[in-house]
Amino acid sequence: MASKKKTAKTGKPAASAAAKNKIAAALKNTEKSRKSGASPAKTTSKESKDAKATKDVKTTKDIKAKFQKISEERRKLIEEVVKELVGEDALTIVYYLIGRTKVSEFVIAQELDLEIHKARNLLYKLFEQNILSFIRKKDKIKGWYICYWDFNERSLPFLKEKITASKLNKLKERLEKESTSTFYMCKNACTRMDFERAMEFNFKCPECGELMDEQNNMRTIEFLQERIKELDRQV
Ligand SMILES: [Zn+2]
Repeated sequence: MASKKKTAKTGKPAASAAAKNKIAAALKNTEKSRKSGASPAKTTSKESKDAKATKDVKTTKDIKAKFQKISEERRKLIEEVVKELVGEDALTIVYYLIGRTKVSEFVIAQELDLEIHKARNLLYKLFEQNILSFIRKKDKIKGWYICYWDFNERSLPFLKEKITASKLNKLKERLEKESTSTFYMCKNACTRMDFERAMEFNFKCPECGELMDEQNNMRTIEFLQERIKELDRQV
């Protein structure tokens, strides 16, 4: 589970950044279009002015239709859960499904400008985490099956609890380890390890060869205790 999460997070930083940019650009454009309204930049002929105005209105409408306005609190919960369980590049799909129901995967791919296999990959990852659900229907004309997707927003509070509980568990394990072991650290701060490992290296830093000293980890322990208290209040 932990390693899977890591791949999702660090596997495709470029895609993730692209997804983020897409959301930011869409939101920014909506804002810009709303501000400028139907008064586009100066144009010489009336005809082109009208054409541009129509185009502006259409674009604004499209973007508004794609990304519904949602409250900050709602956005925060969605972001936290989706990023943690699937990855940032899945966010556009989730936002897109707000206020919609039974959306065909082909429509999702087309509207969000994703390749169909990329869209499917993200959709199934979201499904595995119970963030989305789908129904399969046979297309009467084409004869193949198409999945129609829904956002299970009601599951989010439970997923958030699960995430917090799992973080809490890890912190508690770490605290246990910090409280019961002795740690050694290189004077140049390259490495830090517990007594057993330090002994394997004869208490010499494997990076620079400097002698490793026993480290006072009281501050680490205090930090972990604080974090645990904080998360305990959330569950
Ligand atoms: Zn060192």
